[in-house]
Amino acid sequence: METQGSDIFIHDNQYRLIMVFYSPGRTTSYPEIPPSNGIRYHYLGGGDEVGNVGCVFEDKNGTRMLLDYGLAPTDPPKYPREAPDIKDAVITHSHIDHLGMAPWLCSNHRTRLHGTPLTSKISHMMWNDCYKVSRLEGYPLAWDKRDIDIATSSWHTHQFGEKWEKDSWKLKLTKAGHIPGAAMLNVETDTHKLLFTGDFDTRDSPLVSGAKPEKCDVLFVEGTYGGRDHPSKEETIQAFIDRILEVTQRGGTALIPAFANGRTQDIVMTLHKHLPELDVHVDGMGKSVARLQMEHPESLRDPQALEDAWKWCRRVSSKSDKKKALDADCIVSTSGMMDGGPSIWYLNRLRMDPRNAILLTGYQASGSGGRMLLDEGHVPIWDKRTPIDLEVSQFSFSTHAGHSDIVEFAEKCQAETVVIYHTDPNYARPPLVEELESKGHIVHTPINGESKILE
Ligand SMILES: [Zn+2]
Ligand SMILES: [Zn+2]
Repeated sequence: METQGSDIFIHDNQYRLIMVFYSPGRTTSYPEIPPSNGIRYHYLGGGDEVGNVGCVFEDKNGTRMLLDYGLAPTDPPKYPREAPDIKDAVITHSHIDHLGMAPWLCSNHRTRLHGTPLTSKISHMMWNDCYKVSRLEGYPLAWDKRDIDIATSSWHTHQFGEKWEKDSWKLKLTKAGHIPGAAMLNVETDTHKLLFTGDFDTRDSPLVSGAKPEKCDVLFVEGTYGGRDHPSKEETIQAFIDRILEVTQRGGTALIPAFANGRTQDIVMTLHKHLPELDVHVDGMGKSVARLQMEHPESLRDPQALEDAWKWCRRVSSKSDKKKALDADCIVSTSGMMDGGPSIWYLNRLRMDPRNAILLTGYQASGSGGRMLLDEGHVPIWDKRTPIDLEVSQFSFSTHAGHSDIVEFAEKCQAETVVIYHTDPNYARPPLVEELESKGHIVHTPINGESKILE
């Protein structure tokens, strides 16, 4: 039995009481009356934090749209504030911090989801995975499996460059870089031209080409890397290759934890290009994501390169494949932050031989297995704190624009106003504000739950 509508959910299989976060229509803090002029924007989440994004745009006629509705899969997870009744939402891309709460939205408000065809296809897998992890780790979700089905049938897809309308607004998705299918949203209202980047990168990656600037009045830009510039890609790749060769030449296996959606494929393509002689095995959800990416060549920079890399690597699909992978040169596998998944299964067997090594390929959130490994030298394996004596190194394969990329992008968009969100408000945002203001932009620093009017 599962009851909903009062203040608790009761899950029959776990006999646990779980707080409901929202009572639809009753707990939203979003203003009921449209702005008297211009455009109102209001961050439900992601205004002054990384991830957890939800932002409402509304004009004086009451035309409103939600941009992204995610959650932050931290421990404990974070959720954006409750969305008001809203009929249309644009989902910029298929990372959980941008679409994790969409099942709740579609189920409670019958919201239509707009996004690219690839984002819509991958979404189902991301929601299922999020549901599975929430059960395993015992954290509450405001939606259940039936809501995934409703969300899956709520998609209205749009190709890159295709124009569509919502009342008097003209809308268009353009490429954001970052991961395949990721889009920036262009909105032309009666009064303003807005550009919302979602997560974006102006640099090419193996999978996708960099985002191109678009002329706009107001740029909503993600500021994850404010105050930091990336090292050159060539240097990072060279260091990564050198490390792998060191490990394989002494007879070891390099365990490469990688996120499923984007990073796994970028890493396999990089290995195929630079180390084709190696024996590389791939495990985890990244295999299914790659299949969907290959069905959408329009979202890829070089579809043939992904196909070739995918044929070249060995995809692990059975228990005996898993055992064979233990003798490989490299294993690329989820979870990218060493929180469960096959990467923990491999680690538990590879940890006995000091010739093996771990090469982390992304950000490791506080509380994650990867973070504990870096800071304290141990990882929870099947809930048991396990010391790991292998060499560990970390490489930045980020596909977010760096500080200088963001500043250059805003300049090329000729944006009068720049709104910086999806950012750490204490460290990352202040240096961006300072530099953007010095270049003559008006800069806004949104706070979750507060409205701002663009006159
Ligand atoms: Zn994000
Ligand atoms: Zn993302």
